[in-house]
Amino acid sequence: MSKVTEKSLRARCTELNMGPLKNTTFGIRTQRTGKGYTVDLQYRDATPPQILVEGVTAAEASATVEGAAFGAAAVKAAGSDKPEFVTRETFIRQSGERCPKCATKDISAEHLSVGKGMITQKHACQRCGLSWKSIYRLDDYEVAITGVMEASHE
Ligand SMILES: [Zn+2]
Repeated sequence: MSKVTEKSLRARCTELNMGPLKNTTFGIRTQRTGKGYTVDLQYRDATPPQILVEGVTAAEASATVEGAAFGAAAVKAAGSDKPEFVTRETFIRQSGERCPKCATKDISAEHLSVGKGMITQKHACQRCGLSWKSIYRLDDYEVAITGVMEASHE
């Protein structure tokens, strides 16, 4: 196998984007950063990019690019070119502000339900009609400064 370089990776991505991925909803991109290579999927609609790998070597980035292209070809053959729902990671990265199905921000938040160390909140999408529960977990506490002052007077 010939040595993978930043140039050859970029060329391969362009080749895939203009070829096998041309009629899919996304293109693939490789970027070189200080930590290594990043490979992400760039959707052609408003969906934010999906990072596949970060801080990997050129050879690993190349394997990811080929894997994604192969996966896309397989998914396309199966009749759908985009997963129906975003992953948990993507949902969290979007701060739960987008519909996990159609990615719109046009969503309505309904009542909160408080559990032990956890709060769930029902949401409904105004565009595609999906409803889901966003799950918030207890993370930390902060003592209010005024609360400490008052306590010290007792
Ligand atoms: Zn939706």
